[in-house]
Amino acid sequence: MSKSLTSPEWFDRAQLSIPGGVNSPVRAFRSVGQSPRFIARGQGSHLWDEEGCEYIDFVGSWGPLILGHAHPVVQEAIVKAASSGWTYGAPTTGEVELAEQICRLVPSVEKVRLVSSGTEAVMTAIRLARAFTGRDLIIKMDGCYHGHSDGLLVQAGSGLLTNGLPDSAGVPEGYARLTLSCPYNDTDTLESLFQQYPDQIAAVIVEPVAANMGVVPPLPGFLAALRRLTQTNGALLVFDEVITGFRLALGGAQQVFSVQPDLTTFGKIIGGGLPMGAVGGKRAIMDQLAPLGPVYQAGTLSGNPLAVAAGRATLAILEQNPAIYLHLEQQASWLAEQIRSASARNSIPVTVNRCGSLLSLFFCPGPVNHLEQAKTSRTDRFSQFFTSMLAQGIYLPPSNFEAWFLSAQHSEEDITRTAEACATSLQELNSRGM
Ligand SMILES: *Cc1c(COP(=O)(O)O)cnc(C)c1O
Repeated sequence: MSKSLTSPEWFDRAQLSIPGGVNSPVRAFRSVGQSPRFIARGQGSHLWDEEGCEYIDFVGSWGPLILGHAHPVVQEAIVKAASSGWTYGAPTTGEVELAEQICRLVPSVEKVRLVSSGTEAVMTAIRLARAFTGRDLIIKMDGCYHGHSDGLLVQAGSGLLTNGLPDSAGVPEGYARLTLSCPYNDTDTLESLFQQYPDQIAAVIVEPVAANMGVVPPLPGFLAALRRLTQTNGALLVFDEVITGFRLALGGAQQVFSVQPDLTTFGKIIGGGLPMGAVGGKRAIMDQLAPLGPVYQAGTLSGNPLAVAAGRATLAILEQNPAIYLHLEQQASWLAEQIRSASARNSIPVTVNRCGSLLSLFFCPGPVNHLEQAKTSRTDRFSQFFTSMLAQGIYLPPSNFEAWFLSAQHSEEDITRTAEACATSLQELNSRGM
C-alpha cells in the first residue's frame, strides 16, 4: 500500500494542475504564510484534515453552513433528492416551494429567481437595476465584495483585499468606470456622488453588514440614509445579503435594521452548502426578467434539485428553531467579550467587530467603521495569531479580512476552548514583544 500524502504534499501536487493549487484564491493560505490543510471530513462544528488532525471550524465553508457540517436532516434531503435523478432542465415543485419560502421569510422579496452562485445573483441584480432605471452607473462601497463579475471588482474586499489587488487585471477600464466607489458608513460622500451624477445612478449596492473586509456593521442611520438617498434620486437600493441572509435573522439584515431594499441577493445559506444563489425583490422589477421582460438571464443548472433540497431543508430547520439565532448571538457575544478582555490583559490592541454570528478581529485600537480603518490592522500580528490558533486546533479564516462564522453546532465547550486558545495566542504575541 502506498503511503498517503500529507496536506503539503497534496498542495505541491495540486499546484501542477490547478493555478495556485486552489479553486478560490483565499483557500491558499498565502496571506498567513502557511500552506492549506486538505480537508477530509466535516461533522458538526469540527473538521478533520488528511493527516487526521481535528479542528473547531470557524470558516463554515465561508458562510453556508449555519447548521454545521453534514447535518443529518439536510443530508437526508440531498440523498432523497438524488435518488430521483439530479437535474432535468425543467421546472420542479421544490423550486416553487423554495421561492415561496424565501418570499414569506423576506417581505421585501415578492418574486425571486434562483441561480447557481452569489456572483450570478449580483450580476443579475445590477442588470435589472440598469434596465429598470434606464441608467448605467452604480455605486458600491469600498471593501464590500459582491462576487467576481467585472463591474464589481472595484475597491472590493475578500480575497482581493488579502492579495493586495485593488482591482483585477482583465477588467476593461470602461466597465470599472461605470462603478463609483464610496467609503462604507459615509453618507456625506454618497450624497455628493448623487449630486455629481444626477439622474445617472441606477443603483447603490451594499452589504448591509459588511463581512468581506472583516466584519464592519453599519453605523446607526447609515442604511436608512441609503434608503432615503436612493429613493429621492430615483435609484434602486440593492442589499447583497449573500452572507447576512438567513444568518442574522430569518429575514436577514433588512429585518434586523428595518430597512427594505428594492432588490436583494442571496447565496451561501440558501443552498445549504450546495451551489445556489438568488435574486429577488419588488414584482415590477423582477418581472423585467426573461421570459416576461427584456432582461436576459438563464442557467443550465439554475434551481438544481439537489441544491434546492439542501436549501429547503436548511431554511425549514431555521424556521422551526428560531432559538438558533439566540444561541448564535449569545455564543458569539460571549466569545467577543472574552477576546476583548484577553486583549486588554495582554496589552495587544484588538478591535472585535461583531454582528450576530459574524465576528472578526482587527489588530488595531479601533474603531473600525470602514475600509481605511480596517487596513490599519497589523496583519503580521494576525498571521502569528492565526498560526498559533491552528496549532491549537482552531481553524479560522486564513485572512485578517474575512469573517469568522459560528454555526448552530458550536457547543459551549467549543466556544470555551476557542476563547482559551485566543487568550493563549494573544499572550504569545505579547511575550514575543510583537
Ligand atoms: C460570497 C459572496 C458573494 C459571491 O458569492 P459566490 O457564491 O462566491 O459567487 C457575493 N456577495 C457577498 C456579500 C459574498 O459574501
